[in-house]
Amino acid sequence: MDLQTRAKSAGLWSPQLPEQLGGGGFTLTQASALLEAAGYSLLGPLALNCAAPDEGNVNLLEKVASESQRHRYLRPLARGEVRSCFAMTEPAPGVGSDPRGVTTRATRMAGGWLLTGKKHLITGADGAGFGIVMAATGNGPGDAVTMFLLPTANEGWHLGEHYRTLDAVSVGGHCVVTLADAFVPDEDVLGEVGRGFHYAQVRLAPARLTHCMRWLGAAQRSHDVALARATTRNLFGRTLSDHGMAQALIADNEIELAAARALLRQATWDVEHDRDAGVASSRAKVFISEAVGRIVDRSVQLMGGLGTVHAEGPADGAVARTYADVRAFRIYDGASEVHRMSIAKRAARAAQGNESRAAT
Ligand SMILES: Cc1cc2nc3c(=O)[nH]c(=O)nc-3n(C[C@H](O)[C@H](O)[C@H](O)COP(=O)(O)OP(=O)(O)OC[C@H]3O[C@@H](n4cnc5c(N)ncnc54)[C@H](O)[C@@H]3O)c2cc1C
Repeated sequence: MDLQTRAKSAGLWSPQLPEQLGGGGFTLTQASALLEAAGYSLLGPLALNCAAPDEGNVNLLEKVASESQRHRYLRPLARGEVRSCFAMTEPAPGVGSDPRGVTTRATRMAGGWLLTGKKHLITGADGAGFGIVMAATGNGPGDAVTMFLLPTANEGWHLGEHYRTLDAVSVGGHCVVTLADAFVPDEDVLGEVGRGFHYAQVRLAPARLTHCMRWLGAAQRSHDVALARATTRNLFGRTLSDHGMAQALIADNEIELAAARALLRQATWDVEHDRDAGVASSRAKVFISEAVGRIVDRSVQLMGGLGTVHAEGPADGAVARTYADVRAFRIYDGASEVHRMSIAKRAARAAQGNESRAAT
């Protein structure tokens, strides 16, 4: 809490949120440096109120919520008084990589909607004050999907199993949530009925880039910790960083950190200027999620046995922690294969002359 108070007084709280909502009022490009710095520390994103999924939810609500929803959901979230979650994914055969599979149903009734279904892998659900839930409001699964705001105190919201996952970075874990005839009044429909997928993209395009920013910070930290050891550890008569094979690991980390920042800068600019940012954001997400994994893996290797130890004895712990925490980033916010599919489809359409090529 002390760190959060200090972030507020330094004007760094919720970097991207407008100042009238208590945020820093920074553009996405400006926030990029702050979010990367926040990611350098395991506690940084919480201290600056820019951790997932709240950060993505705040920005979505800021763009889409009605005045009453801003008052009841956005403002408490922006002040850090409650946490939230985003509930889309379902156990098979429900929605995952293929967005057409939403099986949670919202049935129309007087004054609102009745939600029934099962979600899983919902980050932060344990302890959240409310969830943003995707449910089908059309005739079949995945048909006319709509977003709903649902307080977790609703008697139809049931928190289920806490999955034991590779990562340990998320407050509130990754949980199963069952919706059993959860009544949502009309005033808690988020945006327009049937436009849930559109709003999901409004949320995801910047949210996957802010994930990239935080993970880049974590990768830089791992690289710095490994460099500190490689430049002081003496092996076979010379410093580890003077051995050619260690130099290759160090150099590849430097190259991929720089390449990741360049791709991120371009995608951030496109999102910020409302340019068609789909391909740029997919390219950045695929490359950075995979590059961060490689950078941290090389850092573990340079560290030797201590690279695998959590913060005990002489180990920094951040390298081992990040190695486990970052793996899932190649799956959430669109698996690498899904982004590659859309990049390739776009390139093929351009080659066939049906579409202009995305800016490079
Ligand atoms: C740590 C973590 C946190 C998460 N948090 C949330 C959350 O807060 N809210 C939420 O709603 N969901 C969340 N998720 C779920 C996440 O969004 C899904 O796991 C993801 O969309 C993939 O869906 P799936 O798990 O059903 O895998 P599937 O859809 O079954 O896909 C399995 C694999 O198939 C491959 N694949 C997919 N499409 C193609 C293709 N076209 N060609 C070739 N291969 C392909 C990919 O490798 C993919 O990983 C989280 C997941 C994790 C791991």
